[in-house]
Amino acid sequence: MADVVVFCESDDKGIRSSSLPALTAGAALAKQLGGGVCAVVIGSGTGAAAADAAKYAARVLTYDDARLAAPLAETWAPQLADAVKRVGAGALLGTATSTGKDVLPRAAALLGAGMASDITAVVAANRFRRPAYAGNAIEEVEISGPVLVASVRQTAFPPATPGAAGAIEAVAVAAVDALGAELVGLHETKSTRPDLGEAKVVVSGGRGMRAGENFKILEELTDLLGGALGASRAACDAGMVPNDLQVGQTGKVVAPQLYIAVAISGAIQHLAGMKGSKVIVAINKDPEAPIFQVADYGLVDTWEKAVPALIAGIKKLKASG
Ligand SMILES: Cc1cc2nc3c(=O)[nH]c(=O)nc-3n(C[C@H](O)[C@H](O)[C@H](O)COP(=O)(O)OP(=O)(O)OC[C@H]3O[C@@H](n4cnc5c(N)ncnc54)[C@H](O)[C@@H]3O)c2cc1C
Repeated sequence: MADVVVFCESDDKGIRSSSLPALTAGAALAKQLGGGVCAVVIGSGTGAAAADAAKYAARVLTYDDARLAAPLAETWAPQLADAVKRVGAGALLGTATSTGKDVLPRAAALLGAGMASDITAVVAANRFRRPAYAGNAIEEVEISGPVLVASVRQTAFPPATPGAAGAIEAVAVAAVDALGAELVGLHETKSTRPDLGEAKVVVSGGRGMRAGENFKILEELTDLLGGALGASRAACDAGMVPNDLQVGQTGKVVAPQLYIAVAISGAIQHLAGMKGSKVIVAINKDPEAPIFQVADYGLVDTWEKAVPALIAGIKKLKASG
């Protein structure tokens, strides 16, 4: 019997919604291990986040310290390792966000634990499913040893639902050593659109959009559908849109209800980030573009013709109620 520690990322309002799938995976693993879920919140001023985490886990450990204000793997990973030891847990889970990908492997190293990255299913107490080769193969990995660490693919597990009334324990933080690392700046993109990883609709543009200003028309389509804007790596690398919009193997993994790929060829690295979408629509002028192989609906046309027509159609539909 062993508990599962779940690393919950947070802001000043509560835990981030990206952590909710990790809590779901944590509960599934805790069932296998015959234990419970202990959520861990780290930062400075974590009161609201700890109270929020208590809605999802029987136990919450909070590491609240001014020296932990910056999300540095160097300072946060030792707190996670401490939590695992304190709880006597058999596993540490978190979501495979950029912070999770940074902090969890370091925590695994500190614990001397094996790690599975980007898991999509809990098969047994120490067995997980995860995609390999840009999603072209699914492998099952087994981790031996008394403690295991895994990062969870956000789109593979449903968000946990509130209902618990967990006990919150404030842990006195011991020495904090950033090992020379320092957070120089944090440039957050402020957007009124939903988060790319959570949006029900994603409209992505590729290199065929040719210039950043041409993404305005995709923004209009995105906003009409209440979705999030995405892009291929080629479009990001060309500076048409910011890098945080990148969908794919080295970008964000999305699985919306509707994914509209505009002027994107459909390289495997792009598909790795979106082929779990429920309905895929592709607009491309090249009928041989590989994106059509995964698309549910394909339109062979230029975006210059197709997107304005789509926008006009949606506006007409909306106007008719
Ligand atoms: C290790 C590694 C990791 C990678 N990670 C990622 C990743 O995370 N995400 C990612 O996206 N890529 C990734 N890539 C890059 C990937 O291999 C492709 O190069 C990239 O996805 C291509 O982007 P694209 O489809 O926008 O561009 P292109 O392949 O150049 O395709 C442009 C498409 O636009 C169409 N087009 C052109 N003009 C028009 C028009 N007027 N109207 C309609 N269609 C038009 C063309 O027919 C073409 O199909 C990675 C590559 C490597 C090696």
